[in-house]
Amino acid sequence: MSELNLILLGPPGAGKGTQAAHLVDDFGLPYIATGDILRAAVKDGTALGKKAKEYMDAGDLVPDDVIVGVVAERLEQGDTRDGFVLDGFPRTIPQAEALDRSLEAMGRRLTAVLLIEVPDDVLVQRISGRRICTDGHVYHVDFNPPEQDDVCDVDGNALEQRPDDAPEKVKRRLEVYHEQTAPLEDYYDDLGVLQRFDGTRSPDEVREHISATLSTLRLEESA
Ligand code: AMP
Repeated sequence: MSELNLILLGPPGAGKGTQAAHLVDDFGLPYIATGDILRAAVKDGTALGKKAKEYMDAGDLVPDDVIVGVVAERLEQGDTRDGFVLDGFPRTIPQAEALDRSLEAMGRRLTAVLLIEVPDDVLVQRISGRRICTDGHVYHVDFNPPEQDDVCDVDGNALEQRPDDAPEKVKRRLEVYHEQTAPLEDYYDDLGVLQRFDGTRSPDEVREHISATLSTLRLEESA
């Protein structure tokens, strides 16, 4: 099998995590979500968590040098051999350049960058209803409610709103996306790996579109 080295790109609330879960199920790829890694580090009170917490609580990005090494180390683990799904990284041009260097050093390249596009007003509505459990399972009060209010269906943990999902923080995170992360759309388009998806469609429609795109890419590769 050829490698599937994938990045999910898009603003907070675009549905990257949902689509990543499908990619993991469909292709058995490891899921590398820097937001999850950082939240776990904050929860465990590690040195990484201590460095990241203040930025995360404010809805700002943690500095590039804090996160770049974490991802580079993760990519070197054996389970990424057939590919990976990166979610939430890279988020800045310097991070993208660092990732290029890491992949090049491993003799690998990106298969595709999947950009999920959603307008800001829809994102605000989606994020404000989002609830997560301490193990990262994600719900939405209207679109994907748990069976019992505020309790995770999977493990019975209490559901909470992420501190950075509060409305004033969401506004800041969207600003940060447009200022610092959106330039990656052109960066990857110029490299010829960007694929765009309409994230206002249903999650199943987005999944089908992604799956069809990846099948085409693989056919082209094997042709
Ligand atoms: P996420 O779960 O991807 O929305 O990430 C939550 C928060 O973690 C972000 O608002 C940032 O503070 C931080 N974070 C996650 N990934 C990165 C990254 N690649 N670069 C900088 N900060 C990040």
